[in-house]
Amino acid sequence: MSAESGVPTFRGPDGLWRSFRPEDLANPEAFARDPATVWEWYRWRRRRMSSAQPNPGHVALVSIERRAPRFTVITQNVDGLHARAGTRSLIELHGNIWRDRCCAEPPHVVHHEPGEQEPAAVEPVPLCRCGARLRPDVVWFGEGLDPDHLEGAIEIASTADVLLVVGTSSVVYPAAALPAIARRAGATTIEINPDATPLSGEMDIVLRGRSGEVLPQLDALAVRCS
Ligand code: ZN
Repeated sequence: MSAESGVPTFRGPDGLWRSFRPEDLANPEAFARDPATVWEWYRWRRRRMSSAQPNPGHVALVSIERRAPRFTVITQNVDGLHARAGTRSLIELHGNIWRDRCCAEPPHVVHHEPGEQEPAAVEPVPLCRCGARLRPDVVWFGEGLDPDHLEGAIEIASTADVLLVVGTSSVVYPAAALPAIARRAGATTIEINPDATPLSGEMDIVLRGRSGEVLPQLDALAVRCS
């Protein structure tokens, strides 16, 4: 869904920054060693993301949520576009790149608006009001998911009537386990993806196409049927 909104993938030659691979920077050891460089990279990513807007797929999910008795979006995207589109019930499994947090327990959280100017030149590593170092509130390589988010996602998958699996390569666990959990609990599983994925064969229904095209059609169909 992010790619259709113009969010760079940070994979391949287009996503490289000073020849660093994402996994070299998005990890706790890199941040402990050189927080200024990691922050510089995140500011570059935020600048490249700042013009991305929700696409018709995001909007269709908001429309479905408004009419469904119970509907939650569980996302691995960190761009915050579901929230900006208006999705209310939302689990951002990998965090949100527009948010910072410190290492206090519980952490203090700082929210940013896409496009806002940050005092990067003055403050290479931003500090929290408590004096601790701030970091982007995203899940890095080698880090586990927030247990509350994971429990919430599993609870939803195991009580859902329908699970839409939208535009993910379905290879990143534990999120990739959610379709199997939903199926075992009796849900109908629907994959929406232009390409086949490792999970395509286990889906009840496969809709081949881009999420920005298929989701609005699904939403229109649901309006006619309701
Ligand atoms: Zn703090």
